[in-house]
Amino acid sequence: MASSVATTTRIDGSFLEGGGQVLRNAIAYSALLKKPIAIDKIRGNRDPPGLRPQHATGQCLELVSRLSKDSVLTGAQRGSSEVEFQPGTLVTGSFSADTKTAGSTTLLLQVSLPCLLFATRPNSDSCGDSDLKLRGGTNATKAPPIDFVNFVLFPFLDRYFGFGPKLVIRKRGYYPKGQGEIYIENIPALTKPLPSITVTDRGNVTLIRGRAYVAGTLPSRLVRVMADAARKQLQQAGYGQRMVDIDEEIEPPHAAAGSGSGIILWAETDGGCILSGSAIGERGVKADETGRAAAQELIENLAHGGCVDEYLQDQIIIFMAIAEGESQVVCGPLSLHTRTAIWLAELMTDAKFTITEGGENGRVTIQ
Ligand code: AMP
Repeated sequence: MASSVATTTRIDGSFLEGGGQVLRNAIAYSALLKKPIAIDKIRGNRDPPGLRPQHATGQCLELVSRLSKDSVLTGAQRGSSEVEFQPGTLVTGSFSADTKTAGSTTLLLQVSLPCLLFATRPNSDSCGDSDLKLRGGTNATKAPPIDFVNFVLFPFLDRYFGFGPKLVIRKRGYYPKGQGEIYIENIPALTKPLPSITVTDRGNVTLIRGRAYVAGTLPSRLVRVMADAARKQLQQAGYGQRMVDIDEEIEPPHAAAGSGSGIILWAETDGGCILSGSAIGERGVKADETGRAAAQELIENLAHGGCVDEYLQDQIIIFMAIAEGESQVVCGPLSLHTRTAIWLAELMTDAKFTITEGGENGRVTIQ
């Protein structure tokens, strides 16, 4: 897969979605394919533009530069709007990173996981697997909740791409403190390309599972309020009590840093798909609204009949792009994040995506 190309690929960091995802995907492809990159207009559509410490993007870049031995990263400081990366060689090992804020550990995972899959052993005695120890936020807005990684992303990667690292949630970290701690163990160093995937038949929903949680000084009754509101909303949409199973968890002090709450729901189908909806408890938002918001998101993700939810959609593009052969996934309407991920995949790799829109229920097929 890797090919040495000396010319630098120039990337407009403000294009399409224009957020941290452009940087994460770009540097992951750069490290994987050994293609130097220069990104300008970083977060050009955001106010203020440039790299922000709380968004974890700077740590994402810095982490990849450590995974890629002898690489050179320039311009990755706070406020910067231009970054350059000269990739080195990806090697297996044990790595750690700390966002030092509630910046999301799951975004650190998003950027580093594809890289570690194609790392090589530093020497013949060393282990073929890698481990990651990540500190920061685990359940933050605008990032995958760690429960999404646990219940949606990792099962999908395992089922369709055939690898399943182990996730250990040592401690959850909430806004604004962060300080959560997750370990990702047994990330395999693959010796052959990922297989192509065909995920085209969602099937019927067999079960909706969920996890409502509260931690720290917040009232423990919030879990029940969120879960009940979600159950009611799901029932009104035709998902009756017998197919809904939501855990209500009051996290003990040793399992969470700071205070936080939220809920994630995921539907399992007899077509082998898992689709989610989630919401994070926020100041000024009542707990029942949080529960309803998560349920509504799931209901909408189920209404289009696609096989992946709006978040998994953009997160699997990089794996599809580096897989061998042609993959096909039926989705709901494409998110801007997905369009951005596809643009970058086509810019950085030989992959070509065909988007067929306007199918039954507005479904989209990505090939
Ligand atoms: P960016 O906004 O560019 O930093 O990218 C955010 C990333 O987080 C994207 O990959 C989104 O799919 C993902 N994301 C945001 N919110 C959620 C959520 N509620 N569940 C799962 N993934 C999410």
